[in-house]
Amino acid sequence: MQNDRIIIQPNCDDDYDADSLTCEAALKRIVDSVRAVSGTETLPIRETLGRILATPVVSAIDVPSHTNSAMDGYAVRAQDLPASGTKQLQVVGSAFAGKPFVGQVGDNQAIRIMTGAVVPSETDVVIMQEQVEIADDGSITIDDRHKTGQNVRAVGEDIQIGTEVLHRGHVIGPADLGLVASLGIAEIEVCRKTRVAFFSTGDELRGIGEPLELGQIYDSNRYTLHGMLTRLGVEVIDLGAVKDVRDTVRTALIDAAATADMVITSGGVSVGEADYIKEVLQEIGEVRFWKVAMKPGRPLAFGSIDGSVFFGLPGNPVSVMVTFYQFVQPCLLKIMGGEPRPQILLKAKAQNTLKKRPGRVEYQRGFLTRNDAGEFVVRTEADQGSGILSSMSNANCFVVLAMDSGRIEQGAFVDVQPFFGIM
Ligand code: AMP
Ligand code: MG
Repeated sequence: MQNDRIIIQPNCDDDYDADSLTCEAALKRIVDSVRAVSGTETLPIRETLGRILATPVVSAIDVPSHTNSAMDGYAVRAQDLPASGTKQLQVVGSAFAGKPFVGQVGDNQAIRIMTGAVVPSETDVVIMQEQVEIADDGSITIDDRHKTGQNVRAVGEDIQIGTEVLHRGHVIGPADLGLVASLGIAEIEVCRKTRVAFFSTGDELRGIGEPLELGQIYDSNRYTLHGMLTRLGVEVIDLGAVKDVRDTVRTALIDAAATADMVITSGGVSVGEADYIKEVLQEIGEVRFWKVAMKPGRPLAFGSIDGSVFFGLPGNPVSVMVTFYQFVQPCLLKIMGGEPRPQILLKAKAQNTLKKRPGRVEYQRGFLTRNDAGEFVVRTEADQGSGILSSMSNANCFVVLAMDSGRIEQGAFVDVQPFFGIM
């Protein structure tokens, strides 16, 4: 006590904390300390959606593999293009996609050609059917508006033999399935699935279907973690909820680390609870407890247990999601063998004032839209408490407020991280 007032100890409501790590420093330490899994598997291309490419895809063919027409029209020799005025050409045959013209195109001759059909080697120009005049005898008249190479798709114009079309670490998307198929490749080699085990900690947690007694809550973190991890395409190992009992937590951690590449827990890392979990983690692994200068999600444990990467996330449901997207996801992507994703931040105009005190980066939950003037605008959820999971359900973006920023006035521009692209 000092002058009748209690001296307040450092606490979770403080903004500046000298011992805190910045988000960037924490992320760098995390990502720098992990490496990619080494196993791979070779799969039919349809089964590789969302997987990470382990061996680059190199084309063994030219695409297109033959010179072909980009239009329905007439294939003509360059030397027959009139320098001025018009010229009449005899039409000596037709070429369809998949059914080439058989024969020779000679002086003052042309063929009828369809989109995708092979352009005969003697011809160099395709003239659109709308740009010719057709006579009763089937001959055509062309004028002087055409250039060599026009409407002709060259061999290898899209992809040349030997080109690396997809790099190691690329996440396979729908376009890639088509691209690989267009090269005639049936199977590709992808990184093996990363195994991620997780459990919740807390005496207060109950499973769905159990009645709630006073002070108890349903375990929701395991469900959000299930969703976030499944989206990433990892093998998900849900180990349930574990009581706050030293030996139970210890056994659960050891078992999890034995089967998984990464172990994630939620709860038990805040000041009030950290002690026994801290002791256990330090006995069985190398785990550090960090205070990250962020809100929500300041307490975070990170390290390794028996070769597995360990994340101890805070218990509050929103903190779990924020720390997952800011730290676990980029870390996991590297372990999965993926190349880092660019972080997309947009500038949007705040539609309401945003409460904020300097000292920590804040990830507020917002809803991003475009106004009639075509500007991005964002409004934030009224209740930004770290236990308000509905604020995440109702949001479609994080509003990222810089460490030193104070309150944001309505109409000011703020950084927004859209959920699409990260979720
Ligand atoms: P803790 O980090 O363990 O102190 O937990 C912080 C807050 O998050 C407490 O209100 C917990 O009841 C809540 N919490 C912890 N784990 C979960 C969970 N799995 N699902 C929902 N809420 C949780
Ligand atoms: Mg707890």
